[in-house]
Amino acid sequence: MNLKQFEFWFIAGSQDLYGEETLKKVAEHARIMADEFKNDPLLPGTVMLKPTAITPAAIRRLFEEANASPACAGVITWMHTFSPSKMWIQGLAINRKPLLHLHTQFNRDIPWANIDMDFMNLNQSAHGDREHGFIHARMRLPRKVVAGFWQDAEVRRRMGVWMRTAAARADGMNSVIMRFGDNMREVAVTEGDKVEAQIKFGWQTNTWGIGDLASRYAKINDKQAEKLAAEYETAYKLVPELKQPGKARNALLEQAKIEIALKEMLEAEHAGAFTTSFQDLHGLPQLPGLACQRLMEQGYGFGAEGDWKQSMLTRAAKVMATGLPGGVSFMEDYTYHLEPGNEVALGAHMLEVCPSIAGEKPRIEVHPLGIGGKADPARMVFDAAPGPAVLATLIDLGSRFRMIVNEIEAVKIEKDMPRLPVARALWRPWPSMTGAAEAWILAGGTHHSIYASALTSEYFRDWAEMSGIECVLIDRNTKPERLRDELRWAEAYWSGR
Ligand code: MN
Repeated sequence: MNLKQFEFWFIAGSQDLYGEETLKKVAEHARIMADEFKNDPLLPGTVMLKPTAITPAAIRRLFEEANASPACAGVITWMHTFSPSKMWIQGLAINRKPLLHLHTQFNRDIPWANIDMDFMNLNQSAHGDREHGFIHARMRLPRKVVAGFWQDAEVRRRMGVWMRTAAARADGMNSVIMRFGDNMREVAVTEGDKVEAQIKFGWQTNTWGIGDLASRYAKINDKQAEKLAAEYETAYKLVPELKQPGKARNALLEQAKIEIALKEMLEAEHAGAFTTSFQDLHGLPQLPGLACQRLMEQGYGFGAEGDWKQSMLTRAAKVMATGLPGGVSFMEDYTYHLEPGNEVALGAHMLEVCPSIAGEKPRIEVHPLGIGGKADPARMVFDAAPGPAVLATLIDLGSRFRMIVNEIEAVKIEKDMPRLPVARALWRPWPSMTGAAEAWILAGGTHHSIYASALTSEYFRDWAEMSGIECVLIDRNTKPERLRDELRWAEAYWSGR
């Protein structure tokens, strides 16, 4: 994924009241800023400077062009001078791109000795951006506001978070999710309104028969599988029975064939994510385990048991995390350790955890699986790297979507678990083990989530904002009893929209 393909249109607002000289200065300053933005690695997209916005007709045309441009992933506005906001109504009313209101000032310092009214009239963002903010608030528009000096690293970092998130949203608008099988039978939380998801997020969630995958799988020969297995041997550690001529070599080759077949299908349909279901594997020898781990590592979204919402969200998080240290994986809350003072949660899945979150070189092993009734699947086994991370999930409340985000601290796994052959992560959630669990459960969060060590809660909050959905944050300041009230207030807000 190359994030440079996503354009961000930078628009400085003004008006014609100021005369030629001032407008020339505004354009010149915006050019200097745009050039710096373009060359800053913290800002991963391509910043494109647009003409200074000074009339209602021109502003409307700019937003028409932004809407029509597939490359435009977002619009950044900044009012260097005063730009009366009634001029912006027609444009903002039709805007369909994520919006960042950058509240900054070209000059960092007040030139104390020389300041005069001309200087004040040119450098009046403090005043122009308030007028601009009002019209967003008046029109109830979703947006991110970033305030601070434009050369400041923290301002650039927050702009970068928004850009990565907007890139994920643009990717979602063109994304197909390939679903094999339906949800695990009787599970409620993985259900949802796919039509509404497409309206809100752009995701096209469609189904493909497992038979299509099985017949493609059957056409992959041993030579192709051995070639991919050689790649596995360089990238990961293999247990002896998986190496040629080990007795379980075939289990490895079967996963390699599933990976090749799945990838061919994903590429043919331009799909960015997929789901599997262990209850629908007819024609496949094993549950796709290693194959799902490998495809996640390559940037595909994945959801187990038909969980298409988390699959797409994994994909979105993968786009946001492009090129960042750390990783993103599909995850599931599994088991707690409730020792007083040392409470932690153990997360894993049957098989499908992405090696991008690993703290060590993964081992490929093969073991029986208690459910599914298929052959022993090969899978990667590793411990997730310790450090700050975030869990995010998306649920469908019937009339709307809710995102739930929990800040966590992944901890080093000190004990050996020789009889647990799956990739796993151990974490301590904020505000506490029990506080986080109560808050997550009150909010209706799933057992499935996206585990992201590459991202922070800010990414998911930005994504929820630009998607027009609720975001419930569980962090060090969360109190479950207070959160219960907030969730009830939110019902009133969202039901009115
Ligand atoms: Mn699961």
